Amino acid sequence: QLKETLKVLDQKHFLHPTSSIEQQQADGPAAIFTEGEGIYLKDMEGNVYIDGMSSLWNVNVGHGREEIAEAAKEQMGKLAFSSCFATFSNEPAIRLASKIASMAPGNLNTVFFTSGGSESNDTAIKLARHYWVLKGQPQRQTIISRTQSYHGVAMGATNATGLKAFRDFTNSHAPGFHYVYNQSARNLRDTIEQLGPETVAAFMSEPVQGAGGVNIAQENYFKEVREICDEYGILFIADEVITGFGRTGKLFGMQHYDVVPDMITFAKGVSSGYAQLGGVIISENIHLDLCELSKGTLMHGYTYSGHAVACAVGLKNIEIIERENLVENAAKMGEAMLEGFRVLQDKYSFIGRVRTLGLLGAIELVKSRETGELFDTLLSPIFVQETMKRGLILRTVTYEQDTIVFAPPLILSQAELNEMLRILDETFEFVRKNIVE
Ligand code: PLP
Repeated sequence: QLKETLKVLDQKHFLHPTSSIEQQQADGPAAIFTEGEGIYLKDMEGNVYIDGMSSLWNVNVGHGREEIAEAAKEQMGKLAFSSCFATFSNEPAIRLASKIASMAPGNLNTVFFTSGGSESNDTAIKLARHYWVLKGQPQRQTIISRTQSYHGVAMGATNATGLKAFRDFTNSHAPGFHYVYNQSARNLRDTIEQLGPETVAAFMSEPVQGAGGVNIAQENYFKEVREICDEYGILFIADEVITGFGRTGKLFGMQHYDVVPDMITFAKGVSSGYAQLGGVIISENIHLDLCELSKGTLMHGYTYSGHAVACAVGLKNIEIIERENLVENAAKMGEAMLEGFRVLQDKYSFIGRVRTLGLLGAIELVKSRETGELFDTLLSPIFVQETMKRGLILRTVTYEQDTIVFAPPLILSQAELNEMLRILDETFEFVRKNIVE
């Protein structure tokens, strides 16, 4: 049987990203997906699932979009790839850079392309440090980020990631990286003072932390962060890899806080996963400084920076987001999802805090709402296995918490949300009866 054959080959030859090797060796793949349509995924056995995470927070326009496939095919047939190094360029890259510049807030106006989020954050870190080298302050090297942050797995991105397990994995604790607690901007100020402001290159943060548990910042946090960065002349990098292009109900997450960073990193939602694409949007000021002060070569660039097919896919994806008003839909359906969560919260005493910003959401599971104490055996891993059996794919966050996270495609309809909520209700009931009681 094909599934068995593939399972054995998978176990032997395919080292999965972010996986438990032990579990893969024991069980093989839980699902081998073959098709997608809208918010649904189908596996090779014909099981259909709601993709409650937009796969990896990225398939925002939903699966099976023929017109994106057409755009990719057309571009690939014409010119799949040509260099963007030095003075070479191509039309999709130029058009996508201008399009993104027109969408970005404030004076964020120039785009550097990559193939994903990790490369984007490494690029932002390197551009920030290079900027200070050019400005005659090469000692400004330190990157400050937040303890619950996730910025990716390239070397710079790994070191900027606050979730310590990612750094511990290779004992990567590079100098020049510091972490501040999530809660208060005061902690950022104190850290800058301690380190010496003249040594700090940039502060990096997600508008809403994704992998850290969908943590939404307090209302004034980023305003204060912006003020502190301005006061000490530190660059502010927003990692909008998850939040960019509409996920939170605004085009960019920082727009909820009325704050314009100096750089925005993006990936995922720019192409909805139809091609590997990411990048950094930099402010006009930084760009002008780079142009004025640079003498030699920008010693940074990926072969695939400005990939013609990826950029053509990005353009079509953004066209869909605009044409179908998906940013507005994310805002509206995010409210409806929160209402649904609150109904469940009223019904099940082991649901702790719930939250959404657009179609990015979390439900915390707790033994006690009063103390926030967690169950001895965490519930969320069992919970998401049970929702999967019922046709809903979700994800957990279990670093010092027991949280289920949600990021359904931005095309989500009320009927589809109701279906998700029905499966959640049924699963909560199952967990209450079989595990909690
Ligand atoms: N930044 C954030 C906020 C992310 O959530 C991710 C991936 O989940 C990344 C960066 C890394 O992106 P990639 O996996 O495309 O390298």
